Parts: sequence; structure tokens; C-alpha cells
Amino acid sequence: MTDNFAPNGGAFMLETPFPESVFIPEEFEAEDHLIARTAEDFLRKEVIPQSEQIEQRDFDVMERLMRRAGQLGLLGPEVPVEYGGLGLKQTTAALVTEKLSLQGSFAIGAEAHAGIATFPLLFFGTEDQKRRYLPRLAGGEWIGSFALSEAASASDSLSARTNAVLAPDGKHYILNGAKMWITNSAWSQLFTVFGQVDGDKFTAFLVERSFEGVSFGREERKLGMHGSSTRRVILDDVRVPVENVMEVGKGRYAAFDALNMGRFKVGAGAIGGMKENTALCARYVKNRRAFGRTFAEFGLIQHKLAEMAARTFAVESMVYRLAGCLDLLMAPIVADSPGASAQYHRAANEYAIECGILKLVGSESSSKVADEAIQIHGGNGYTEEFPVARSWRDGRLTRIGEGASEVVRQMITGLVLRRDLQGRLGVREAGESVARALASPDGAEMPPSDGPLDAIARIVRDVRQLALFLISESTARLGLGIMEEQEILAAIADVVCALFAVESAWLRCIKLRDRSHHRFATALLATQIAAHDYAQEAFLGGCYVLDALPGQETVQDAPCSGIGRLLNRLVRSDLNPKQLRRDLAAIVLDREGYPL
Ligand SMILES: Cc1cc2nc3c(=O)[nH]c(=O)nc-3n(C[C@H](O)[C@H](O)[C@H](O)COP(=O)(O)OP(=O)(O)OC[C@H]3O[C@@H](n4cnc5c(N)ncnc54)[C@H](O)[C@@H]3O)c2cc1C
Repeated sequence: MTDNFAPNGGAFMLETPFPESVFIPEEFEAEDHLIARTAEDFLRKEVIPQSEQIEQRDFDVMERLMRRAGQLGLLGPEVPVEYGGLGLKQTTAALVTEKLSLQGSFAIGAEAHAGIATFPLLFFGTEDQKRRYLPRLAGGEWIGSFALSEAASASDSLSARTNAVLAPDGKHYILNGAKMWITNSAWSQLFTVFGQVDGDKFTAFLVERSFEGVSFGREERKLGMHGSSTRRVILDDVRVPVENVMEVGKGRYAAFDALNMGRFKVGAGAIGGMKENTALCARYVKNRRAFGRTFAEFGLIQHKLAEMAARTFAVESMVYRLAGCLDLLMAPIVADSPGASAQYHRAANEYAIECGILKLVGSESSSKVADEAIQIHGGNGYTEEFPVARSWRDGRLTRIGEGASEVVRQMITGLVLRRDLQGRLGVREAGESVARALASPDGAEMPPSDGPLDAIARIVRDVRQLALFLISESTARLGLGIMEEQEILAAIADVVCALFAVESAWLRCIKLRDRSHHRFATALLATQIAAHDYAQEAFLGGCYVLDALPGQETVQDAPCSGIGRLLNRLVRSDLNPKQLRRDLAAIVLDREGYPL
């Protein structure tokens, strides 16, 4: 980042930032690469060689590896130095997360610990709580868990039934309830448990494993993540000292801020898995032969390889763009100052829309890449002899945990609309002016584009206009009833995601061009492919909404209208998807992996 101006959350809906103000991964410095190398070496030399034992649920191995990661500082990357962590910026911490995600079972344990289990304490703990627990968590001496979900409430987490009442001695809360699917249960010493004080004040409690009344269910038998521990945590008259209770009634902030940061980390983790699968596939297809040729020579295999690389590039660009924004708000926070909690809350909450987008696009892109990796490996991919099967199984969870895709889609558009209603984000007004412009006789006309970056700029502009138009049309026709129209909210979210994805890739490309970076040409290919694909996704989302809105002429009825012309341009861009993919695939094959 070259200036100190943090954009408002959701501002990307309205305007493009200056490219220079956006962080890109090519700006990492030697010390960032050093810590990333430590994480990657640890994964490749110590964790991945033990994948077989991890898959066989040898929990001693996993527990040892978690503690070893803590000794290396990898379990407390963002925890400030004064509390025993490395005090890294969000950009560097995201790089560590990316590297830790190379083994699914290890990744979920490490991220549950370093992310959602640590953030509530870091953001909202009292000074005494932070001093007592953070150093032990950051160093891996203790492992942590985040205990929010219950059998009847996970997506709807605020309706948790776990209950707490103040004991007559005034020194303890008595906690009763059962938490479900709690990661790291087998080896955690500290559980951040969420429950209702007196039935209605949602509150976070720091519960030690050794507290009387804490017990555990059996290990869940899961589709994937076989080496991670997932159990029920049963709380039977657990006496929690009042010193271990975070502010009564404020638990929703602790939970949601941690989940926002967790969603950002799901995006960062997705990058690692996608890069690994791309490399595995590139090497595999160079060696496998059929019909007298290597698989690498088949156009349809090249198509898949290029798509893997282009999707990875888009997610990577989005993740580090958001990480840079988080740094602008978080890096100046003095962790042990009285105002720290309010500042952490502001930062984690400000970018809730973008965090949701990263969770959604990251998890869906990595799932798609893992699926194609199996397809490329054919029958081999369906066996346990090759690592792609495990990656596919493990990765399936990312579309469910920390907010399932359906819930996150509604959340993204819901937040955009709520911020508009609060006067924080003028999307409806901007949408109305797009609608007026499109209604003019030459609305949505565009002169021919001036080079490839200009062609992408037009797609960014068209997708933004489409998103704004859809919001203003939907709210005009449905009023506040739109909040109950899940399908419409979700389709708009897809257009919003497409905007953030293409714009992030394009901004990175501009920066690389301006710096005459040696990877600019490859980045441009990846961005063109991403722009082509996300334009199509935006088109589908746009048609869905316009066809579904009451009283709206269908898109087919309006091919000559401004919006019809805009939609047409999205699916008929000047980009040649076949040739672009072939060109990018050649580079992926040459480098035997993700080339950026
Ligand atoms: C391996 C694993 C590890 C986990 N680790 C943890 C952990 O450490 N801590 C923790 O607290 N939790 C954990 N969870 C729980 C996880 O966060 C939840 O599973 C997740 O939030 C989804 O909730 P659910 O399973 O109750 O699904 P449900 O809420 O039953 O949802 C089922 C489906 O319905 C959809 N749906 C739900 N609500 C709506 C709606 N309003 N509109 C439309 N569709 C909807 C969902 O998107 C989903 O597709 C873990 C889960 C697993 C499987």
C-alpha cells in the first residue's frame, strides 16, 4: 500500500480504487517470504510425509504436529508480540495460512486454533484473559477450540440454547448445554464457548478442558478431514469463574468478528489447495499418454489447467487486496491499549461483505479445482493412491463450515442493502442513475476497446453497472420484501462476487504492467480468462434476477434495451476463451504448476 487510506467496506460496489492503493502479493518482502518458507517447509517435510497416519486418525501424530507448529510460531501469526505471537500483518498471516493449507486435516486444526479460537480472545478478552491465555495459544503449549455450533443451531448460531446463570456466590457462571462439531476437541485445552446468560444475553466464556463438568462425545466419522478431531462438547453444570467471561451480552460481536476473519482465512487457505492441485495435475498430464500423445497435448486438458490457474489468480488477487485493507485498519492498533477492542471490531466488521465474498468464491473455486483435478487423473483420481481424492473430500467442508454457501450468499447482498439503508453505501441511488443512463437511446453503447486491459476495464464497468442496476430494480419492485427473496439475493451476490473478483485481478494486472513486472504477460492471460468467465457468471445472475422480478419484462423481451445490450456484451466479449486458455496452459505446463 502506498497511501494510508482504508476504503470503506463495500466501496468497491461504487467505484474502482487507484491501483497503487491495492496490495498485491508481488509486494511481499524477503522477511515475508522467509516466514512463508518456514511454514511450507514444515508442511512438506513434517506434515505431508505423515498424511497416511493422519488419515488413519492417529491423533497423537496430529497433536504433536500442532504443538510443533506452535513452537515455530505458526499458530499465532497475528497475535501481537506482547502476547507471545509473531505480530504479523494480515497480508503476511494470509501467506502463512496459504502454506498451512497444503494438508486438509492439519489445516482445519491449525486454522480453527489460530483463527476462530484465538480472535475472540484477542479482540474482546480482558487484559488479564489475554495475558493468561494468548501466550500459551500462540506458542502451541495449549490448543484452542471455537465452540459456537449446536445440534439445532449452527447457521442460526444466535439461537444457541447453551445457558448460563450467575451462581449464588457471584464468582462463577454455571454453564449447561452441548456444542456440536467442535474442531480440535481431542487435544484442546481452551474452548471459547458461546451461550446465553439468563436465556437471552449471548456471551463468550473461556472454558478450560479441566473444568469439572466438561466432557466429550465420540469422534464424528466424517467424509473428509479424517485426521482432524470433531466432537460434541458437553457442558454439565460447569462452573466458569467470572474472570473467564467476556463482556456479558456482547458475544455476538466476538462470534461474528471471529467468523468474518475466519471467512477471510478460508479464502487464503483456498489458494494453497488450488496451487497444489494445479501442480499435481500439470506434472501428471505430462507423463500420462493415450492416443499416441501425452495428456498435456489435449485441448480439453489444457482448458482445465488454464481454468485452474486463472481461478487461483483471481482468488489470490482478492485475498491480498482485502488483506491489505485489513492491515490499514489493524496494523496501527496497540493491542494492550484501552481502545483496542473497539478498533479490532471496527476492522473485522468493516469488511464483512468482502470476507463473505472471499469465503464464497474461495471455497467454490477450490472445490471446482479439486473436482477437475480428479477428472484429469481419471480412475487414478478416484483412488487413494493419488492425493487428489483426499483434497476433494477435505475441501468439501469449506462450502459448509463458517457459514454455508447459501447463508453467505444471502448475507453478502443483505449486508450491501442494510448498509445502503443505514446511509453508509449509496448503492440504490447509484443503481437508479445506471438505470436512467441505460434507458437513454444510446444507453450501454461502447466504442471498440483499446487493448486487452481496456477490454477488461469495460467488463469491470459492465459488471458493476449490472450489480447496481439489479439492486435498484429489485428494491424498487420488491421493497424491503427483497430480504425474504432468497433466490434473488443469492443471484445478486453472484454478480457482486464476479465484480470483486474481476476487478481485483485487473487492478493487480495494472500494477504489474506499471512496474514492468516480468510476470505481467502471464497475469494478463489469467485475468482475461477470469474476466471472460466471471462475465458469463454475472450474465447468468443478471438474467435470473430480471426474469424472476415481478412486473419486469423478461430479458428475452428486451434485447434492444440498454440492459439487454449490456447483458449481451457480457457474453459476447472480444476475448477468445479457447486461445487464451491454450496460451496460459502452455505456461502452466512449462512451469509444472501455477505460474504466478
Ligand atoms: C468437520 C466440521 C468441523 C466443524 N468445526 C466447527 C467448530 O470448530 N466450531 C463450531 O462452532 N462449528 C463447527 N462446525 C459446524 C459448522 O460451522 C456448521 O456445520 C455450519 O455452520 C452449517 O451449519 P449446519 O451444519 O447446522 O447446517 P444447517 O444449518 O442445517 O444447514 C443445512 C443446509 O441448509 C442451508 N440453510 C441453512 N439456513 C438457511 C437459510 N436461512 N436459508 C437457506 N438455506 C439455509 C445451509 O446453507 C445448508 O446448505 C463444523 C462442522 C463440520 C462438519
